[in-house]
Amino acid sequence: MRNVVIIGSGPAGLTAAIYSGRANLQPLLIRGVEAGGQLTLTTLVENFPGFPKGVQGPDLVEMMQKQATEFGTEFKEGNVTRVDLSRRPFVLELGEERIETRTLIIASGASARLLGLESERKLLGHGVSTCATCDGYFFRNKEVVVVGGGDTAAEDALFLTRYASQVSLVHRRDQLRASKIMQDRLRRNEKIKFVWNSVPTDILDPAKGEVTGVKLRDTKTGAETLKACDGVFIGIGHSPNTRLFTGQLEMNEVGYIMTRGGAKTSVAGVFAAGDVQDPVYRQAITAAGSGCMAAIDAERFLEAEH
Ligand code: NAP
Repeated sequence: MRNVVIIGSGPAGLTAAIYSGRANLQPLLIRGVEAGGQLTLTTLVENFPGFPKGVQGPDLVEMMQKQATEFGTEFKEGNVTRVDLSRRPFVLELGEERIETRTLIIASGASARLLGLESERKLLGHGVSTCATCDGYFFRNKEVVVVGGGDTAAEDALFLTRYASQVSLVHRRDQLRASKIMQDRLRRNEKIKFVWNSVPTDILDPAKGEVTGVKLRDTKTGAETLKACDGVFIGIGHSPNTRLFTGQLEMNEVGYIMTRGGAKTSVAGVFAAGDVQDPVYRQAITAAGSGCMAAIDAERFLEAEH
């Protein structure tokens, strides 16, 4: 029987592990399919406090992992396939394996939706990005494309105008889904150009290891064009990784876990931290902060039971 099981190995899960490890709770952390989380998809992180010259995303994750190991975290590879939160101890299954735990910290994150192109996958972190706030700075005086028509794409496009010389917003329809206020801001910004009724079919050039352009298909006529650019930001939304918990925990209308009074969820003894419960800030530092909150909440919950 475990005191604390943590699902997820991004900054939220690892910070929860550091705190619960230091509290002598010997946490078990299940790393999940996208081990290390979204930080592992980025390069230089310049806004995580304590690193005045920045730190590589994967290095930051590795350091957090070492720190969690120092304090007695046990790591397990793999993915949780089923959970039962209807009674305590909670039961988790990883394939054939069954784990029982007094408390559970869910830090399974959110995954940026991708277009699904092979070139996109190859160039991720090399000119293709899913995070404008993380990577926008690298595109000073460059031309970038943002894909999407919702608030994420709008926010990304506006943010990128701080750096880029031109931002082309490529949307598959001729009407944005983004809120009216964001649409107005987009239209008022001279650096933003709209490319309507278009979807990327390929991103060039994986052979060079950098982005040189994007092939676009007109969704009305089927015509293909090539647009030269230096970066492509995919802003077609994020999905919280919460499918396992559907029907077991209170979630908002798009599947983010609802937390209250810190990191508490609708089930006593289950806590959530990081992007899985945060559709708003989605930063490494806020994820780490909420991981700390979840660990403290779990520790207090266990203390109160004794
Ligand atoms: P979203 O509202 O679902 O929008 C996704 C956009 O991407 C849509 O325009 C969609 O096109 C497009 N899209 C989806 N799949 C695509 C594909 N395979 N190829 C090309 N285009 C694709 O997602 P979101 O923008 O991340 O927003 C999610 C929620 O968070 C919303 O409720 C939003 O208001 C909120 N949010 C708010 C803010 C803010 O208030 N500042 C910031 C970010 C997010 P269609 O329009 O044709 O479906």
